[in-house]
Amino acid sequence: MDGKQHRLFITAVSVVPVLGLLAAMVLLWNRAFGVSDLVSLVVMYTIAGIGISTGFHRLLAHRSFKTHRPIADALAVAGTIAGQGPAIIWAAHHRRHHRMSDRDGDPHSPYLYGGRTRIAVLRGLWHAHLGWLFDEELTSDPIRYCPDLVRDRHLRWISEHFVLIMMLGLVVVPAGIGYAVSGGDPMSALTGLVWGGLVRLFLLSHLTYAVNSIGHFAGRRRFSTADESRNIGWLAIPSFGDSWHNNHHAFPRSANHGMRWYEADLSALFIKALTRTGLAWDPIRIDRDRIEARAAGLSRVGGGRHVPAQPPAPLSERRRARSAAASAADAGDIE
Ligand SMILES: [Zn+2]
Ligand SMILES: [Zn+2]
Repeated sequence: MDGKQHRLFITAVSVVPVLGLLAAMVLLWNRAFGVSDLVSLVVMYTIAGIGISTGFHRLLAHRSFKTHRPIADALAVAGTIAGQGPAIIWAAHHRRHHRMSDRDGDPHSPYLYGGRTRIAVLRGLWHAHLGWLFDEELTSDPIRYCPDLVRDRHLRWISEHFVLIMMLGLVVVPAGIGYAVSGGDPMSALTGLVWGGLVRLFLLSHLTYAVNSIGHFAGRRRFSTADESRNIGWLAIPSFGDSWHNNHHAFPRSANHGMRWYEADLSALFIKALTRTGLAWDPIRIDRDRIEARAAGLSRVGGGRHVPAQPPAPLSERRRARSAAASAADAGDIE
């Protein structure tokens, strides 16, 4: 998939959901939102959401737990239904994000434009939310960032057929749910498609992308990480726990992103259920003592709500500053 195809794909998945919302409004004009629509929306949102959070993010990008091959494949297919591109490309961008968080080379940092003006902030947030997906020059080489996933034959197949899988999850399955739940009403198949397919795609996309944009911009920091990641409580349920993003940057491989009893984390519960039933094993768990020691470190170095609004200077600026300082020192030597 080259840059142009990627841009076309992203444009399609951004525009089609808006058409879906418009269609939903027209349909609602005469007909209330029914039980079969709600079932289709909730079931499809859950499948795609678990696919992204548990499958793409915790299993593929971070290897937070191990599972049987059919379950790994099912999670990769579920994540593909979310319409965020091929699994291997998603994981490559994400690993690169962790490696270069809020610095040069981060695919989706809201601090790309620097500065504190309102325009710079809004441009940065747009870039981190959705704009980065339109950047034709942005590629995260899968061979470099996830050779383990590229070697996986099943995952390569799922990644190569992502449009087909996404369309099945966008049209066929939600329409089938509407049809089945309503007892065979063709109109419910159509409205099931609108709510479980199009509206679901729109909602899940923006709520997931909000972790990249708002999750590096506004919210609380428990851990002193080198980036600007934040925890966002209100996004915890719809993001299946991925919005405990500062926790996640502090301990990227942890199977749990929620690290206190009150931090809802549906993906962690799902992994726990798989582990308890023997369907998954070796989840990465971080000792409570280690978590608390790291959190206590934050108060020693400052941070928390007092963390600076700006991340450390990007590498290029620091490099420039260092070479300027070095040439100034050289000039001093000559004198
Ligand atoms: Zn992040
Ligand atoms: Zn991550």
